[in-house]
Amino acid sequence: MDTILVINAGSSSVKFQVYSIEGEGKLRRQIKGQMDGIGSRPRLRATGAGGDPLADRAYPIEAVPDLPTAMGVAGEWLREEIQVTPIAVGHRVVHGGPDYDRPVLIDHGVVARLERFVTLAPLHQPHNLTPIRSVLTNYPGLPQVACFDTAFHRTHDPVADHYAIPHQLYAEGVRRYGFHGLSYEYISRTLPSVAPDIAKGRVIVAHLGSGASMCALKDGRSVESTMGFTALDGVPMGTRPGQIDPGVVLYLLTEKGMPPAKVQDFLYRDCGLKGLSGVSNDMRELQESTDPKAKLAVDHFVYRVGVNAGMLAAALQGLDAFVFTAGIGENSASIRARVVEQLGWFGARLDAAENARHAQKISQAGSAVPVYVIPTDEELMIAQHTLALLMNGHSHNRAEKVS
Ligand code: AMP
Repeated sequence: MDTILVINAGSSSVKFQVYSIEGEGKLRRQIKGQMDGIGSRPRLRATGAGGDPLADRAYPIEAVPDLPTAMGVAGEWLREEIQVTPIAVGHRVVHGGPDYDRPVLIDHGVVARLERFVTLAPLHQPHNLTPIRSVLTNYPGLPQVACFDTAFHRTHDPVADHYAIPHQLYAEGVRRYGFHGLSYEYISRTLPSVAPDIAKGRVIVAHLGSGASMCALKDGRSVESTMGFTALDGVPMGTRPGQIDPGVVLYLLTEKGMPPAKVQDFLYRDCGLKGLSGVSNDMRELQESTDPKAKLAVDHFVYRVGVNAGMLAAALQGLDAFVFTAGIGENSASIRARVVEQLGWFGARLDAAENARHAQKISQAGSAVPVYVIPTDEELMIAQHTLALLMNGHSHNRAEKVS
């Protein structure tokens, strides 16, 4: 059975999925797993196609101190115990910079280019590149494909792509990129089968997870996003603030004397729902909490999603549909209900019963703006891109381990 391995590597976890290639280029998910707690409480978990448990193992911290070791342990498990020998590997790479507007087959030159974008995404890009380098070294004949979170947004008009700063910085790469592109691309590709009448229209997609952003789609293409140069901008997230006046950053640097590295850590890890509530970065815990600051954090989140919807609708010059996706968007009926209430001035009307049962369409029949819930699948998107590049004339080299 030919398979494709999909890897999504972060600072403390590496997630992986294995897809079998069925007839006519169809993909079927066979294994979903992750090694998390790298460097703290390492644990390998994996399930099969039907959700059946395949592995749940804890490791001593010394056994999996870093990402390369985690890759090695997970890879060995896949190879030796599950007998998976993929014909290609697809990677999630957060930043494709100004260069990449689509997935790319990886070679040493591509890696060198992607290394240049580490400064644009210092907390994500290095971890994305680690497994790529490790596969290049150990399996040089195995095709690898990089799929970028930024690529789907490269269709933005220059007027949306710029900050009002001197052009030299734009030329250096300081642009409004937008992220979560693989998720939006999946939704864009799925919309024609869910709602063919509006798939070509003006649609806002709200990817509301621990990372959160929103995207304006026109005719299935991204025209605007709430995220910009980094994944810090836009709506509040689990631990990131979303839109913030740069003056606040200056205040932290000058008045509070925080070193830049501390400011970076603060903005990525200590703000958002966690910072505002002082309770948790997890939406479920905030909704269960009786702490007034937890309530404020949830209220702020809903309010900012509504405000950003207004901005994106202005970019689209109207609104034909609204789509929820990701952890909060797919699972929290109460947050969806509150966001749709914020969209009331567009004429959006919630069907409470359909929303409560997490139906695909959760707006009333007469709603001026239909509202949908579409579960996202970024990993499937990566597998599809990887297969498409393989079928595009690239030979299927099997992995050959180099000692
Ligand atoms: P993601 O990053 O897409 O996996 O989403 C994670 C976020 O989804 C976390 O903030 C979770 O608290 C939130 N989430 C998942 N399920 C629910 C739920 N039933 N109600 C509220 N929030 C949820």
